[in-house]
Amino acid sequence: MIDLHCHILHGMDDGAQTIQDSLHMAKQAVSEGIHTIVATPHHQNGKYINEKKEIIQRVERLNAYLLQERIPLTILPGQESRIYGDIIKDYHNGKILTLNQTDKYIFMELPSSQVPNFTEKLVYDIQSEGLTPIIVHPERNSRFIEEPDILYNLVNKGVLTQITASSLTGRFGKKIKKFSMDLIQANLTHMIASDAHNLSGRNFYMQAASAWIVSEYGMDMLCMFYENAEAIVKGQKCFKDTPDKVRTKRFLGIF
Ligand code: FE
Repeated sequence: MIDLHCHILHGMDDGAQTIQDSLHMAKQAVSEGIHTIVATPHHQNGKYINEKKEIIQRVERLNAYLLQERIPLTILPGQESRIYGDIIKDYHNGKILTLNQTDKYIFMELPSSQVPNFTEKLVYDIQSEGLTPIIVHPERNSRFIEEPDILYNLVNKGVLTQITASSLTGRFGKKIKKFSMDLIQANLTHMIASDAHNLSGRNFYMQAASAWIVSEYGMDMLCMFYENAEAIVKGQKCFKDTPDKVRTKRFLGIF
């Protein structure tokens, strides 16, 4: 199994703090059947700046530790960048890292309660560079929950989305779990990942989420998510079903 989104690099953000934390997380990942992790430190989220060069160096160092400790896990470089106006400029300046450096896919994090007005324009600009933006954890964005058509429009324009394993297992509450299910049902998400930060509150839960997906949607759905994760690290095309609108229940008014 590949985990595309994980804060396993220590001392870079609110994920692992020490190398011991990273190694404990690595062991946990292996026990869940994960063989490859894309390390995705936060970037430009108002708190952390983590640029390409530094991330690549840290990934090399962690891989060396893993080898030394005989932990069968490979770390690939990635980045979780908050959406910001200079993202294209910084891509050309060598500060922005595509997932596994394939110059194909880029993670894009939105603020948790809004979708900035410039999102659509930025998506267009990113696509014009030959990159595909992947919106991380759309199920945790309260604006999308209120108005899922905003996400539908973005997916229709070629954006991919990644939901968090622990959203499906209920870690973020019933509302977010329900919306995650709505997104799967409406073909508005294309992959799952852990977004693990530690081994307490923000653990991997990839195995639990995978089992749950199989029981709710069948093996084909899980295979699609896994195959898309593989396609992403290889820089290949992802599988996408035609998106639908999320059907929200509305009360019938009396006229
Ligand atoms: Fe994250």
